[in-house]
Amino acid sequence: MRNIRVRFAPSPTGALHIGGARTALYNWLFARQQGGKFILRIEDTDFRRSREDSAQGIVEGLSWLGLDWDEGPDIGGPLGPYRQSERGDIYSHYLQELLDSGRAYYCFCTPEDLQKEREEAAQEKRDYKYGGRCRALKPEEASEMLQAGKPAVIRLKVPLDGNTIVPDLIRGDVSFSNALFDDFIIAKSDGWPTYNFAVVVDDFSMQISHVLRAEEHLSNTPRQLLIYRALGFKEPSFAHLSMILAPDRSKLSKRHGAISVQEFKNQGYLPEALVNYLALLGWSTGKDIDIWNREEMMREFSLEHISKSPAIYDLEKLAWMNGQYMMRLDIENLMTLLAPQARQRGWLNEDNSDYFQQAVELVRNRAKTRDELLDALGYFFEEVKQYDEKGVKKHFGQQKASTMLSEVLEIVSNMGSFSAAELEEAFRQRAQELEIKAADLIHPTRLALSGRTATPGLFELMEVLGQEKCISRLEKALVFIAQLTTHGPEGPNH
Ligand code: GLU
Repeated sequence: MRNIRVRFAPSPTGALHIGGARTALYNWLFARQQGGKFILRIEDTDFRRSREDSAQGIVEGLSWLGLDWDEGPDIGGPLGPYRQSERGDIYSHYLQELLDSGRAYYCFCTPEDLQKEREEAAQEKRDYKYGGRCRALKPEEASEMLQAGKPAVIRLKVPLDGNTIVPDLIRGDVSFSNALFDDFIIAKSDGWPTYNFAVVVDDFSMQISHVLRAEEHLSNTPRQLLIYRALGFKEPSFAHLSMILAPDRSKLSKRHGAISVQEFKNQGYLPEALVNYLALLGWSTGKDIDIWNREEMMREFSLEHISKSPAIYDLEKLAWMNGQYMMRLDIENLMTLLAPQARQRGWLNEDNSDYFQQAVELVRNRAKTRDELLDALGYFFEEVKQYDEKGVKKHFGQQKASTMLSEVLEIVSNMGSFSAAELEEAFRQRAQELEIKAADLIHPTRLALSGRTATPGLFELMEVLGQEKCISRLEKALVFIAQLTTHGPEGPNH
């Protein structure tokens, strides 16, 4: 059995998108499971579009996801360099080999020549293919023109008939008629290879055994196979991963919400949750289990179980999964996750970490993401500036609201100690005396203390907030209600 060597080969022209991250993850899982090597290669020969910050971002994204590589631009390795821009000599060597063997040729057709060919094709209503004019040039003619300084690209001599079959591990044999292809360009006039040529030379010379990449490359693969054959290279196995589509089955784009790894990182998603979600986006063991840790995934992963049909991107499912991982975090790690934002907002400092922790423990199960959790924590650290509108109508609008809150204010002001159990007892007792339901006291109080209609248990919340904050917020709510009656139903909220 040959050594398993796989690679992730991003072009650094933008952020690491979830599609790319999934490709990297499947390669990584496969390598780790098989005891193989996972290689990172930066494909930066599109000099106009490649950017160093994008390469950096991709590297950071992969590291954040915990997808470590065995060979790559930063750590080197025996078959480098691992950046295409540093591999010019290697490409030139193989280009020359193809020219020498007559499997490729220089083409001097000018953009105007090609434009003319294109127009003719359009007139005759056929798909455009390069007509092959320079295929017939003799080597002496070509070198004369080169010497005269005429710009030239290099084209591959593609077989004029027959088929090229891509044996795909996920979708079986996919056949392409060679008549579809023209003698395509393998090196541009600046001497640098095109993507298809560079990728073949790299995959061969880095001894890649399996190419697992996005379905959008499937149409490139027959061209690459033609290059493998022209060079006499051993071919790797191929697997093309199905697309990730938006919920409406359109192409996934920014308008569908966060799609880059960096965005999820910024929003405080947990890398483990994102990895788990991406793993199941197009791969399934048939077991009805959603939460997999890395070891389990590595054990179970197999190319046979990768889906042929497109995967549907579901941010809600991802948030749910993130919530599952948040629930499993111990309080220290959860505090660490929240700390940078909490400090920035002035919610956390050296003196209040106990208070902060109590608040977090109380609301943690109400949030699926870090940002939701921060949102749920707001009223512990900031005064209530607004009351939920529906809540105002329901709980502050009624005549008795002010009576209820006055009762609560009195209870709260007279409490000696301030525990949830004692508060509950006091509320229940007062409700009995007044012959009302405890809920009549509870609902307006919740709104007064938090501005919201849904919170964790009111008495626990009061215990954490403490007597002082409870008193001042109840007083403030009473003023608000008094203004409500003067301002009418729209209230002083407006
Ligand atoms: N550089 C290509 C891309 O970012 C991937 C090439 C490959 O995987 O063969 O789409």
